[in-house]
Amino acid sequence: MNNIIIDYDSTFIKVESLDELARLSKTSSAKVNNKIKEITNLGMEGKISFSESLQKRIILINSDKEDIEKTVSFLKKNISESFIRNMSFIRKNHNKIFIVSSGFHELIDPIVKEYGIISQNIYANNFLYKNNKIIGFDNENPLSMSKGKVNILKNLKLKGDTHVIGDGFTDFEIKKEGYAKYFYLFTENIKRDSIVKSADYSLKSLDEFIKIYK
Ligand SMILES: [Mg+2]
Repeated sequence: MNNIIIDYDSTFIKVESLDELARLSKTSSAKVNNKIKEITNLGMEGKISFSESLQKRIILINSDKEDIEKTVSFLKKNISESFIRNMSFIRKNHNKIFIVSSGFHELIDPIVKEYGIISQNIYANNFLYKNNKIIGFDNENPLSMSKGKVNILKNLKLKGDTHVIGDGFTDFEIKKEGYAKYFYLFTENIKRDSIVKSADYSLKSLDEFIKIYK
């Protein structure tokens, strides 16, 4: 039995969903977007923790359920081309495909469910609301902390060979920590040169994965 772990942002879809939520929200402004970038960078430099960075960005984004709906419509039109092309492969293999993302269920589930992915196989964060406004997230979810993806895989205790497809370091980290056999760097949308060396395979599209996997 094989397992296929797929990242969401910049892999299943062309963009980063939280960035799009920030951009499409009613409260969006250049000032807010710059501040968000600053916080993202502080996180990447390790000056603040992942959960602190997430908390700060969500407060700044200041979105509501209407902003989420608008973002979901946008994301539906921004699925990676090779995922659209290979919808039948995804549907056929849906029972072995897991979506593991540090993004949010609200911005992921409506898109991937159209490809036959079942709820139990989607791992992501959850927003917390008050009067339809997003006020934070469930900070007990492992995906809201650093090494979140590694800990999800650790808890899943999957049998057989695990293949991870993603564009980022946290996807590679799953293999690095011993919870996957192969890491495929997905470069259709973005190519992070710093990770190329760590990848077992570099994929320009999902078609390339399907060829290797078969
Ligand atoms: Mg990604």
